[in-house]
Amino acid sequence: MFEKVLIANRGEIALRIHRACREMGIQTVAVHSTADSDAMHVRLADESVCIGPPASKDSYLNVAAILSAATITGADAIHPGVGFLSENADFAAMVEEHGFVFIGPTPEHINLMGDKVAAKQAADNLGIPVVPGSDGEIMTAEEALPVANKIGYPVLIKAAAGGGGRGMKVANNDEELRQAVQLARTEAKAAFGNEAVYMEKYLGRPRHIEIQLMADGHGNVIHLGERDCSLQRRHQKLLEEAPSPALNEEARAWIGKRSTDAMKKLGYKSAGTIEFLYENGEFYFIEMNTRLQVEHPISEAITGVDIVREQIRIAAGLPMSLTQEDVTFFGHAIECRINAENPQTFMPSPGTLTDYHAPGGLGVRVDSGIYAGYRVPPHYDSLIAKLVVHGQTRNECLMRLRRALEEFVIDGIDTTVPLHQKLIVDSEFINGDYDIHWLEKFVAEQA
Ligand code: ADP
Repeated sequence: MFEKVLIANRGEIALRIHRACREMGIQTVAVHSTADSDAMHVRLADESVCIGPPASKDSYLNVAAILSAATITGADAIHPGVGFLSENADFAAMVEEHGFVFIGPTPEHINLMGDKVAAKQAADNLGIPVVPGSDGEIMTAEEALPVANKIGYPVLIKAAAGGGGRGMKVANNDEELRQAVQLARTEAKAAFGNEAVYMEKYLGRPRHIEIQLMADGHGNVIHLGERDCSLQRRHQKLLEEAPSPALNEEARAWIGKRSTDAMKKLGYKSAGTIEFLYENGEFYFIEMNTRLQVEHPISEAITGVDIVREQIRIAAGLPMSLTQEDVTFFGHAIECRINAENPQTFMPSPGTLTDYHAPGGLGVRVDSGIYAGYRVPPHYDSLIAKLVVHGQTRNECLMRLRRALEEFVIDGIDTTVPLHQKLIVDSEFINGDYDIHWLEKFVAEQA
């Protein structure tokens, strides 16, 4: 097992990884920008190294500085966390070239899934159902028109290198499609440095359902069930639950088996998530994330599996500590993303926390690096805490969540806590009756 792991990230996820390491008796190295000198992950780590000024490109994306930090501290392995360099195949390769272990999949698999056109073709070849659409990249409207007429409007033009829900265009007819293809290519080039776009049928009322997978590279591949992440604003997830109120046991077992079989064929290693849209009882692959995900704790809550610990074991060459037969699902879990944002306008709200108190009690987990007096820096993602609540039933989980949100005190800045409080008492949410567009409508009604 590793003696020392460098955590190439910040905030709650850096703390999450630190905790898994400490429980395994592994020492941790925190890296941080000058804006994060007082951060909790820096305070708790065994060692810390400042890797640059506040801007991410100069610090958390600064590969040379991170590799130097690993060298001078004598780290054995690097965990990239989520975001930043976690899906950068070149980084993964450089980590290994410098003699460290990358805690994640191979650069080849990161590369494959990072190109959404290649990923979709791979998924199709691996027996995973995909959204009907173009056969690979589309260059011109002339090429797109017959495909659109075959699959039927509306269609969606997506960037092969897209991410974070950016760079998607809906076309409702030939006229709109003619304009959308060129525009999408130009925008994709500007945003992602890659003009490749592809086309998919635009599904009207799907849910976003994703499967948590783990593979150890010794032939053992398991799934930890699904997460329903349909509650999104601008394609950003706000509240996630497991299991999904929309799936029955049969559908769960079917998509779980399809996904694990595919990962076996691919020879995948480490944690990964396959994201699907789910409509009228059918699953449609949209992408695979070759990393830990923000919402992983709800899967941990309903299975008792420590996903980060398993990732570390796998990276160290050990088999996973459990097989699919050992996985039992218990109860219901919900995660609320607490962002430093105005709950109505979603304007970022950085600043100093004048008071802070986290909820607790049975079934309540808070993953966060904030504390009273902490100053939320303006340079990064606005996620400051994740409230993860578990109950024996969905109803118990909701009651507990309501209670936990009441207890949460975060003073001095705006947060999304009041939005979650309204959301979880809404009757449609309580009935589990929502799709990927539902939250946008809910938010608009609150304004
Ligand atoms: P990104 O990598 O940018 O997050 P995804 O392919 O994962 O892009 O899609 C993000 C979100 O966009 C999905 O969760 C869903 O809400 C919406 N979306 C993507 N593809 C489709 C589609 N074919 N039809 C309807 N909505 C879609």
